[in-house]
Amino acid sequence: MFNQDILNRFQNEETPFYYYDLNVLQQTLDACTNAANRYNFHVHYAMKANFNPTVISKIRQAGLGADCVSGNEVLKAAEVGFDPSKIVFAGVGKSDKEINQALDLDIFSFNVESLQELGVINSLAGVKGKKAKVAIRINPNVDAHTHHNITTGLEENKFGINQWELNDCADALRQSPNLELIGIHFHIGSQITDLNVFKSLCVKVNELHQWFEERGFNLKVLNVGGGFGVDYHHPDTNTIPDFEGYFKVFDQFLERKPAQEIHFELGRALVAQSGSLISRVLYVKNGIKKNFLILDAGMTELMRPMLYQAYHKIENISKGDVAESNKYDVVGPICESTDCFGKEVELPASERNDLIAIRTAGAYGEVMASGYNLREKVKSVYS
Ligand SMILES: *Cc1c(COP(=O)(O)O)cnc(C)c1O
Repeated sequence: MFNQDILNRFQNEETPFYYYDLNVLQQTLDACTNAANRYNFHVHYAMKANFNPTVISKIRQAGLGADCVSGNEVLKAAEVGFDPSKIVFAGVGKSDKEINQALDLDIFSFNVESLQELGVINSLAGVKGKKAKVAIRINPNVDAHTHHNITTGLEENKFGINQWELNDCADALRQSPNLELIGIHFHIGSQITDLNVFKSLCVKVNELHQWFEERGFNLKVLNVGGGFGVDYHHPDTNTIPDFEGYFKVFDQFLERKPAQEIHFELGRALVAQSGSLISRVLYVKNGIKKNFLILDAGMTELMRPMLYQAYHKIENISKGDVAESNKYDVVGPICESTDCFGKEVELPASERNDLIAIRTAGAYGEVMASGYNLREKVKSVYS
């Protein structure tokens, strides 16, 4: 990913910054859309993974829809040119203001996460004389087998409507003149690499689909969410996720009627591998038990390692492949002990000013940056 030209360019840039390889992004988008088109599947991009303007404009150009989890994401999606008929809005805590903004835009669907929210959308739509299109986000109680902080489809999680509430939900829908039920929605978690998990999801969706049909609801859309993972350990040799294999599971195991649309909401799988956080070594601190590499990037630029104990591959791109290596705890400058990107990381003997790449940082990286310690807003560089 980092040839000599890129390295020369990096030498002139102030660190830290996000580097986006737009070729990798394009190849990933092509692989995804080609595979989805084969089955006539609709893909929405989960904007929360990365809303860098250059990145989302590429994604819009690829023809994807937008999956939003806040009013500002809905507004941003519309502003950068996503057709409102391809914008969906999920989230457990949509405020009245956010719901009103989305109603004004006539978005494709609200993915509704509680009974009370159904009532609120019904009355707000009524005030505007509109009919809001809704999908019920159901908690399918399917274990995504990922880190517990990124699992969302279990009954202990705050997301979605639980199955024992579905009778009340059906009653509420019948009594809500300003709502049109268009489908059911699921999202069970993130960084899922075991395709069997999606197979279990399909089985659940089939059951619940039938439950609604038996009660006279005609579902136009089955939205199975996102969560497809990427290979954080091998960003160079396993760069593009196996979209073919992923979509094939749904084609095989999801029961659908001819006119029914299958919707996906992919975030991480589309953007993660195209981004790296580039940083410089400020100091090398050798101890008796530990050596520390102190970088000019920290948890204020990339929080995943601290928030989820997430692994990111760390490379010294100034040194390349040299025989001699050391073990370092790679840390940032922030005044928190958790501000550590990796412990006992094997790297070439490193020096002040070496460039360090933290790979697979295109998803849930830049978007989670914060101003803690009054840090500067992180910049981006593209190729
Ligand atoms: C975060 C989120 C997604 C995308 O998840 P990825 O793991 O990035 O694919 C999709 N749908 C909803 C509702 C989400 O909250």
